Amino acid sequence: MAKTNYDVIIIGAGGAGLTAAVQARELGLTVAILEKNPKVGGNTSRASSGMNAAETNVQAQHGIVDRMQDFYQETFQGGGKLNDPAMLQQFVTHAPLAVDWLNQHGLPLEDLTITGGMSTKRTHRPASTAPIGAYLIKGLQQLASDDGVEIITDATVTQLLTSDGKVIGVEYMSTAGPQQLLSRAVILASGGFGASKELIRRYRPDLADYRTTNQPGATGDGLRLAQQVGAQLMQLDLVQVHPTVQQDQEHAFLIGEAVRGEGAILVNAQGRRFVNELATRRIVSNAISALPDHHAYLIFDQQVCDRVKAIEFYNQIGLVKSAASLSALAGQLGMADLVGSVNRWNEVVETGQDPQFGRTTGLTAPLVKGPFYAIHVAPAIHYTMGGVHADAETRVLDANGHPIPGLYAAGEVVGGLHGNNRIGGNSIAETVVFGRQAALTLKRDLES
Ligand SMILES: Cc1cc2nc3c(=O)[nH]c(=O)nc-3n(C[C@H](O)[C@H](O)[C@H](O)COP(=O)(O)OP(=O)(O)OC[C@H]3O[C@@H](n4cnc5c(N)ncnc54)[C@H](O)[C@@H]3O)c2cc1C
Repeated sequence: MAKTNYDVIIIGAGGAGLTAAVQARELGLTVAILEKNPKVGGNTSRASSGMNAAETNVQAQHGIVDRMQDFYQETFQGGGKLNDPAMLQQFVTHAPLAVDWLNQHGLPLEDLTITGGMSTKRTHRPASTAPIGAYLIKGLQQLASDDGVEIITDATVTQLLTSDGKVIGVEYMSTAGPQQLLSRAVILASGGFGASKELIRRYRPDLADYRTTNQPGATGDGLRLAQQVGAQLMQLDLVQVHPTVQQDQEHAFLIGEAVRGEGAILVNAQGRRFVNELATRRIVSNAISALPDHHAYLIFDQQVCDRVKAIEFYNQIGLVKSAASLSALAGQLGMADLVGSVNRWNEVVETGQDPQFGRTTGLTAPLVKGPFYAIHVAPAIHYTMGGVHADAETRVLDANGHPIPGLYAAGEVVGGLHGNNRIGGNSIAETVVFGRQAALTLKRDLES
């Protein structure tokens, strides 16, 4: 088995892994990333809505005055107050720096939208309104390659190597068979377990029959790898179900929260609204599941389409129904109450008052400009809030709460930041904030 030495080995080439790699190279460290899929990106490449941060320059340029403490409180509230306060504080205070860092690396996020549970527009996205995930992955992969990061695909890490209690490298399976690589530190950036039927059955048997929005490689390998070296795992039963997933085809497609953030409403089979569409995912998913047929329709107009580029893609792959007029759409869907509901909704937008459901955000413009559109949605497994226990500076902790020397973790593999409900837009921010942090912390540890 060939053994090569690096300063850092990173497991997983999603947002957290690629960010950590770029940051580590800039700190002068040698870096290899091992990715089990044939291409990089992970779940990050599927992200469509955006990245949250408060008090950013971008917000100021849009005339939005935000406060980090509001971002903290709304995330804490949305997470059922189960979020790790130190980690959340680190996240909130470093998210604007992460947006700046991306900007300085040629990846500006100059437009803003809003997601459920947030009081103001703090979800940053590309000026084109294109899906954020593919945009970031393309840019970060290029930066990593240009900087001399070694990216090895089709390489599944199977074990962490240790010596005297310190992590010193990895064993992985490549197309050429088992290999070993040695390093001074390892960063786990292997994502969540939303695509593992086995782990979902173990930790959330009630969700065993749900479909998933996750890429097939999201199988929680990092949990097993970390556990083998004594890491503590936490909150594994906290699994997020996303309310708006189109599931009529072989694949389940997430319909990004920006669609509601930019003004879409949700209606039941009769065409009636039934929930504040921009409450947290937990609340909206529960409301859909409580409907007699457990599914709903997103309804919007051409103006919403113009503000969310991802809708073009949803349309191209046949997820969207449309009609020139609202009454024609209502006829197509057999919804007797749709026209009346949209008229009432337009009054909510005009007055800013939603006496029935209390929606206060995403009131951008009334739904008046044809064509009109509908997307059939139902809840599906989306995100695993639990994971490896790490401190706010990304050091993985053992059962006694002590850092395991040489082991760091960032991104969805880590538990604790989101409590029992992740806010849309907080995960991409998490990957950049803690991906960078992992590189910074390990550099400091290596030098101390
Ligand atoms: C459809 C969809 C839309 C989303 N939209 C948004 C959004 O708009 N905003 C937001 O904030 N969040 C969003 N999220 C959540 C967010 O994209 C993810 O939580 C986040 O990108 C995870 O990043 P990560 O780097 O931790 O993991 P990933 O991006 O999943 O990367 C982990 C990588 O590790 C690899 N890996 C796993 N095990 C091994 C192993 N043993 N050896 C080698 N490699 C391994 C995986 O193959 C994968 O490529 C969305 C998620 C989905 C699924």
